[in-house]
Amino acid sequence: MIDLLNLTNLQLRELLRAWKEPPYRAAQIEQWVYRELVTDFEAMTNLPHDLRARLASETKIGVPRVIAQNDSADGLTRKVLLQLDDGQTIETVLMLYADAPNSPALQEPAVKRRTVCISTQVGCPIGCPFCATGQAGYIRNLTPGEIVAQVLHFARALKPDPLTNIVVMGMGEPLMKFDVTWQAIESLTDPDRFGMGARRITVSTAGEIPGIERMAREPLQVNLAISLHAPDDELRNVLVPLNRKYPLKELLRAVRGYVAQTRRRVTFEYALMDHVNDQPAHARALAQLLRGLLCHVNLIPLNPTAASPYQRSPYERVKHFQNILTDAGIPTTLRVEKGIEIAAGCGQLRQAEKDRPGFPQ
Ligand code: SF4
Repeated sequence: MIDLLNLTNLQLRELLRAWKEPPYRAAQIEQWVYRELVTDFEAMTNLPHDLRARLASETKIGVPRVIAQNDSADGLTRKVLLQLDDGQTIETVLMLYADAPNSPALQEPAVKRRTVCISTQVGCPIGCPFCATGQAGYIRNLTPGEIVAQVLHFARALKPDPLTNIVVMGMGEPLMKFDVTWQAIESLTDPDRFGMGARRITVSTAGEIPGIERMAREPLQVNLAISLHAPDDELRNVLVPLNRKYPLKELLRAVRGYVAQTRRRVTFEYALMDHVNDQPAHARALAQLLRGLLCHVNLIPLNPTAASPYQRSPYERVKHFQNILTDAGIPTTLRVEKGIEIAAGCGQLRQAEKDRPGFPQ
């Protein structure tokens, strides 16, 4: 059965042409699927009955099943474990950012940004030792439809409020299968489909250089983030094993090329781990590495996994680290803590559920 979410704009039109339907039916279907967010063909009331019946018998709109859900106490973070058709599971997270901290409810009017963090793979082949997903191994890539379906899940949950941002920062390395990720992004930014502004989307990579080079050439102005986590090859080879394939010198050359071509600022993600990468010498080396680059460093005190030897840095050390970067003229933010109490670190809910008796495999 064809998942309509897997079809590009062109492929949907070709399917309908093969069915001898008029071309405007494609736009009508896209409106129902991506704007009205329906999952039932019977709700598509401006389509003729026989077309609705054919769509229902030969196609589907992929809707993953929620098998676990955690909300943070402040109501601003929701993490779901979604089950795909083959039984595999992925995590997707909704993060709300309010004017007032401690906003009591998900639908609070003070909420300014509604960001969904999506996965691109079941597991992850990169194998970062501090990350629950990396520790659990890699199973398969998602389809474009399975990537888009995560966004539509939360768009439905929030409706009529719109999602405002998408971060491709969940399970998996999104640039490993560039075409798949990019097809999903094109569906999400297509004005006739979901219509999210490209500048509201951020793709985070562990440093897949060919993907960074392709992003630089793409006309869509999607933001780039790099999961850096270490300022030298010796440490990064351990923390982000992809570094053995694409060492820092080459990675930074690719990032500089991206900035030169796009004139867009790059974000470096740096998860601070107690006595691993959080010393003043690391901060100074990081400042040196990024000197003169149009960038921004996002410091994230690590969300530790249960069995991990990697633990979060104490707040004073994080602040000291940030001060060294600031003094060196590197713009930084300390990421607003989201979801530590609900195991919102990548892969942590999936791992917790897997360890529970009766978890669907
Ligand atoms: S941190 Fe990201 S790149 Fe590393 S293993 Fe986890 S999901 Fe993969």
